[in-house]
Amino acid sequence: ARAQIGVTGLAVMGSNIARNFARHGHTVALHNRSIAKTDALIEEHGSEGDFVRTETIEEFVGALQKPRRVLIMVKAGDPTDAVIEELAAAMEPGDIIIDGGNALYTDTIRREASLRERGLHFVGAGISGGEEGALNGPSIMPGGPKESYAALGPLLESIAAQVDGTPCCTHIGPDGSGHFVKMVHNGIEYADMQLIGEAYNLLGSALGYDAGKIADVFTEWNGGDLESYLVEITAEVLRQTDAKTGKPLVDVIVDAAEQKGTGRWTVKSALDLGVPVTGIAEAVFARALSGSREQRKAAVGLASGVLADKPTDAAQFTEDIRQALYASKVVAYAQGFDQIAAGSAEYDWDLHPADLATIWRGGCIIRARFLNRIKDAYDENPKLPSLILAPYFRDAIETAIDSWRRVVSTATLLGIPVPAFASSLSYYDALRAERLPAALTQGQRDFFGAHTYERVDAEGKFHTLWSGDRSEVRA
Ligand code: NDP
Repeated sequence: ARAQIGVTGLAVMGSNIARNFARHGHTVALHNRSIAKTDALIEEHGSEGDFVRTETIEEFVGALQKPRRVLIMVKAGDPTDAVIEELAAAMEPGDIIIDGGNALYTDTIRREASLRERGLHFVGAGISGGEEGALNGPSIMPGGPKESYAALGPLLESIAAQVDGTPCCTHIGPDGSGHFVKMVHNGIEYADMQLIGEAYNLLGSALGYDAGKIADVFTEWNGGDLESYLVEITAEVLRQTDAKTGKPLVDVIVDAAEQKGTGRWTVKSALDLGVPVTGIAEAVFARALSGSREQRKAAVGLASGVLADKPTDAAQFTEDIRQALYASKVVAYAQGFDQIAAGSAEYDWDLHPADLATIWRGGCIIRARFLNRIKDAYDENPKLPSLILAPYFRDAIETAIDSWRRVVSTATLLGIPVPAFASSLSYYDALRAERLPAALTQGQRDFFGAHTYERVDAEGKFHTLWSGDRSEVRA
């Protein structure tokens, strides 16, 4: 046996990761359910490194040095369970199975517990960066038992993206924590994309810019605080011309966004954990709304009630949008990190937000200059109650706040939807409010359900005898 790592599931992601391992000098055993994919990989890229071709699971497992390390890159869900079962039957105690697919973290918790009983190590690893990242350096978020990281870490770190000499890969925490943070990463990605979409829509609808001109704006923004992979590719997508019509490609793409589910998972988990991830939720709902094509068709032409003229100072409004985008993005990340803190507490994972910011600086879809600031903020104060309270972000929002309000109010008066900009601003306003209408909510709950309330001036729980003499009693 001579392979240091085995990869099973050689579709786009698996084959690129296998090549990445090989290019870094590791001997890689290859396996795929249908052998054609294995052969295609060896034929096209066999010269890139040392691959071991295998057909059966037994042959595959037999090709690996001990402790055996196998990375599964198959379709998430039942296929992953099927492959784990086959592998586990052929492996020995101490061997390591890594699931690099987009697994739901609760599935990872279940799989880890069951494999631990059989003496095997199971590492649920979130991998971000898409096709290109898989080949040239993804961001990797491995969970699972700490001791398995000793045998696995160096291998994963060698193929991960590197930023300032630091690999974008670190041990995240026990069992499902790697997939959990990958899920929240994807949720943040949804929010980021929605915010960029709203900025694009405002530049087009409020300022009348065409795709090319908007591309120039994003390119310029990418030179500043907003520098990020998503802003960079936004400009590239906007600049693409459709060969068939000669129009900007974006103008001939159907405006109905699809989703594979990780954004929805993030919001469901946030609901269970009681964490308001309003930016991510708006992004998921915005995709759903865009996809309601029949309803949208029927609603075109409904009253608009536009109350404002378009902004006359285009330069100022563009800058306002940039500031609104930045401030809303701070909120989306703050909410995502809150969810990570809540998950960490719920599952006893002891997650380190600064480490996550560090490994998200490169390789992954949300990589951005901004993550250096998040890392600094958590390095300075690991117990930060909210990212928006870090001095740097506090100041950034203070600088942006007027622009942010102008953008949300102007968009509202013009009838241009800005769900994520607006909800992020409302979240900010609610968080900093001294009093919230929740006092009334508590009164109503006590009225109809005797659910009790607390008082600002006394300890304990109270109830008003609403259907009696309306006096107050201690509950
Ligand atoms: P797919 O999700 O399309 O999965 C295809 C692979 O799964 C093929 O190798 C296929 O084998 C195998 N497979 C499917 N069903 C079974 C089964 N029952 N038993 C054994 N093998 C099976 O491939 P991707 O490369 O797109 O993604 C792989 C994983 O990585 C997924 O979990 C995905 O969510 C995740 N991921 C993907 C990203 C992306 O950008 N695409 C980014 C990050 C993570 P066969 O060839 O025989 O059909």
